[in-house]
Amino acid sequence: MIEVKEVYPLVEKIPGYLSPSTFNWVAACPLRGLYANNDNSAYLAGLFPAARLGILVHKVYEDFSDKLINNEEEFLTRWAFHASNGDQFLKYDVDNYGVFLSNTWQNLQRSIQRRSVPGRVTGQSFKVLTEETLTSGCGRIIGKPDLLILKNEKPVEIRDYKTGGIFDAEANAELDNGSDNVIKKAYQQQMHLYAWLANSIYGNYPGKLTLISFDGVPVFVPFTEIDLAVVNQKIDHVFGAFNQPPSTLANPSVENCRFCNYRAGCPFKDVSSPATVKDLGGIVKDVRKYPSGNIALTLENSDRLLIDRPTTPIDDLGNLVGKLIYVTFARLFYQDPTKIPVGLTNFYVVTKSSFILIKNDN
Ligand code: SF4
Repeated sequence: MIEVKEVYPLVEKIPGYLSPSTFNWVAACPLRGLYANNDNSAYLAGLFPAARLGILVHKVYEDFSDKLINNEEEFLTRWAFHASNGDQFLKYDVDNYGVFLSNTWQNLQRSIQRRSVPGRVTGQSFKVLTEETLTSGCGRIIGKPDLLILKNEKPVEIRDYKTGGIFDAEANAELDNGSDNVIKKAYQQQMHLYAWLANSIYGNYPGKLTLISFDGVPVFVPFTEIDLAVVNQKIDHVFGAFNQPPSTLANPSVENCRFCNYRAGCPFKDVSSPATVKDLGGIVKDVRKYPSGNIALTLENSDRLLIDRPTTPIDDLGNLVGKLIYVTFARLFYQDPTKIPVGLTNFYVVTKSSFILIKNDN
């Protein structure tokens, strides 16, 4: 399945608030903050399978929070409902889909048990809030941690479940000391923001910040009061930046732009990655169907893109002739440039993460 969507020039709007999960993504390139609005939602086509899985899991957690899930049968019903409603191809795109499903249930099962257990210490009341909306006093940060545990109405722990890896493989490799315990910076900062939010609402920081891996293993996020005190400055810095011109806000780099949803329309993007998986774009000159069912798009710049047995009908793809398109995450078919068929500049094949955007000027 390859998704094809039409997009229009990016609209810039200053956001009223940011969530802890997007704050660091925006801090890395504040221009994304101006782009992350509903007018540009078509650019969100083609999220990675892992991100799409994360969205499904969080919808299920929201159902749990709304008490729609109290047993395994209800869990399976709600999971199937969201999977079929939003993303029926996810089970084919995510490796080990069944394992993720089963681990989500095990995590929820523990939460259901905890929900029904009264406080263990006499005179202390525990409350478990799932997907509770927390709004900072200043209104600029709004977030929903997966789990907030209160004791006597004060936060004691915040938990967040992760569908992807928790540790930073590159940082751990650089340390080269055999340890594997450097947590991804974005996750650390997300949890610090949740703690800061909790303090802004309840008047104290939680004692524990915990990430739960998909196989249910807890990982504690270290923090000091100093880490949490500088959060205010970071928020001021990011929101202050939004009043500057877009060219000043852009922070293009291979690392930032490679996974930025807005790169198809962003004039500042850096897509110079040396990787064999790249974006390509241009005006479609020709659409050809092979006897195998595969389809090849040839662009005016003589790049060719092979779409391996597409489920999108040939008629729809045939309509692309003469249109300006942008294709993400296509794999170079020939590593050896001398093998590229005569007359072509490059030969690409789509991957599971590819999508095609038709770019309109207005
Ligand atoms: S494409 Fe790059 S420069 Fe443009 S908004 Fe995204 S991260 Fe920033």
